[in-house]
Amino acid sequence: MANCIICHLGIIEGLDKYETCPNGHPTHYDCLKEWLVHSSNCPLCREKYSDAVIDKFKEFIEEKEKEQNEFIEQELEQDKVKKIKVVADQVAFLKFVETIEELIEIEEYEYALSRLELHDEYPIVTPKGQQILFLKGKINYLRGRFDLAINFLFKLVKAKFNFPEGFLLLGKSYEALGLKDKAQWAFERVK
Ligand SMILES: [Zn+2]
Ligand SMILES: [Zn+2]
Repeated sequence: MANCIICHLGIIEGLDKYETCPNGHPTHYDCLKEWLVHSSNCPLCREKYSDAVIDKFKEFIEEKEKEQNEFIEQELEQDKVKKIKVVADQVAFLKFVETIEELIEIEEYEYALSRLELHDEYPIVTPKGQQILFLKGKINYLRGRFDLAINFLFKLVKAKFNFPEGFLLLGKSYEALGLKDKAQWAFERVK
């Protein structure tokens, strides 16, 4: 009894269907079927299988290749959709920030804040979450609510130390409340 060179199990003469490479290395019929999808050479001696052998599996190989290509295309498609979503989300966010800046420009502070409240979904560790915090701090500073401004801006610089604009407004807010030491501490961190 010979052993299949792919699965190493026995090939029972007269019971198992099998094939051999030109150098006589035996494989189960079903083992070879899967192997030929990847290579037309014997896994042991690298000799190419005869056309007669390969032809027997032709249909199966073509079917498998088609399946693989479809799978790859599907993956690529999903990847593309994901990337488009990320870009679309980024563009929407930038537009939103622009709207808020415009509202600040015309001193519509309450309305700007109410719009910002609708965007609490971004975690504080993300750039978007930090941008929202900064805008909330900035608006409160501009409308003279220095205590609230400090609240937001302190949270911001704690989450992202490298945020000079945040420290600047934080310092100005402390200053407005007469907290000179704290203002100094914040200003020192504006780089
Ligand atoms: Zn086998
Ligand atoms: Zn061989």
